[in-house]
Amino acid sequence: MQIGKTFIFKFFIMSVVEKSLSQEAISLENKFGAHNYHPLPVVLERGEGVYVWDVEGKRYYDFLSAYSAVNQGHCHPKIVSALANQAQKLTLTSRAFYNDMLGKYEQFAANYFGFDKLLPMNTGAEAVETAIKICRRWAYVEKKIPENQAEIIVCSNNFHGRTTTIISFSNDPVARKNFGPYTQGFIKVAYDDLEALEHALKEHANVAGFLVEPIQGEAGVYVPSDGYLRKAKALCEQYNVLFIADEVQTGIARTGKLLAVDHEEVKPDVLVLGKALSGGVYPVSAVLADSPIMNVITPGSHGSTFGGNPLAAAVAMAALEVVRDEHLAENADRLGHIFRDELNKYIEHSIIVQKVRGKGLLNAIVIDDSEDGDTAWNICLRLRDHGLLAKPTHGNIIRFAPPLVMTETQLRDCISIIIKTLKEFE
Ligand SMILES: *Cc1c(COP(=O)(O)O)cnc(C)c1O
Repeated sequence: MQIGKTFIFKFFIMSVVEKSLSQEAISLENKFGAHNYHPLPVVLERGEGVYVWDVEGKRYYDFLSAYSAVNQGHCHPKIVSALANQAQKLTLTSRAFYNDMLGKYEQFAANYFGFDKLLPMNTGAEAVETAIKICRRWAYVEKKIPENQAEIIVCSNNFHGRTTTIISFSNDPVARKNFGPYTQGFIKVAYDDLEALEHALKEHANVAGFLVEPIQGEAGVYVPSDGYLRKAKALCEQYNVLFIADEVQTGIARTGKLLAVDHEEVKPDVLVLGKALSGGVYPVSAVLADSPIMNVITPGSHGSTFGGNPLAAAVAMAALEVVRDEHLAENADRLGHIFRDELNKYIEHSIIVQKVRGKGLLNAIVIDDSEDGDTAWNICLRLRDHGLLAKPTHGNIIRFAPPLVMTETQLRDCISIIIKTLKEFE
């Protein structure tokens, strides 16, 4: 009796304390932070490999990987030690001076991805902005488009970041509303629609580039038809237009190849990278292109105080080495097939899941609910209770993108968590 009471009392105290740890962190954010996100209620304090732990010590599989920034797994020791070592030596010089790491990194990454040159930035959105500026400059300098007339073709339902120019060509009303006036010079065509692309190329004389995500991640992991990227690239060549691949989310082994365009053996004219370029350790992004394109950028015409700092250079080299040494693309490819096969078996008999789609370890399931329904959100809350973190995108779609260092045993464990959870909603 006595033991029972003590136990109940301890349990009561524990749950009060536990609640207050998470609750405290959440209410601090609510009170002092701008409300520009709607996070799942879980407060994380530690990560290692495919796992994260909350402030109460509960362990979860991370199935978002910080939107595919943590492909190499949380706190990868090799990347963290590259960061720590460089941090004790030199962190920032600005580009007013040379530093001894940037050139090494530029050479390493240029060879790694097969381009002549790299332009370093920090975030994905900045890298997309950089690609747009390079493309426009190229159009005026090389293609001789009349000044201020260059246009860039983009796709409907794109996601390329959050700057004023980038949201100017978004069609997400939440991202755009009351942020105008918008930047001009963009033509929108349907995604995965070669006829629409060709029509736009024919109708508009001053097209400089075509900006595309090889798989639309934020839109809900839309994989285009086989051959789309290859044929789109051929059309761009035919019309002398730069093919700009935004691989911020799809790149760096996520889809089972180093780049998603590698599935169709396409070499973009301009490649945009971010997120996993640092393994989630530090904001690092980059634009890569060959010299005839990159050379349109001249001293003073573009830059960033932190872009190309020695800390970022050290971290990015380590992050890319991990991808290669640990064969993360091959692992993502193999595990991705298992994931979709197992989910497809389940979906055959499911009422609430319509389909699973994706490539490598960038996958999503579509829940049979309207875009403003809350089934997907509730499924994610239940997944959290079962020890797996994922987040809905566009209301009824749940993206599943674990770190690529996952083992098959771990993946199968996760598949059973996901299926068990889905069954509770059938
Ligand atoms: C996340 C993302 C971006 C923006 O990257 P940030 O680092 O958040 O600015 C751009 N393009 C794609 C495809 C992305 O997924």
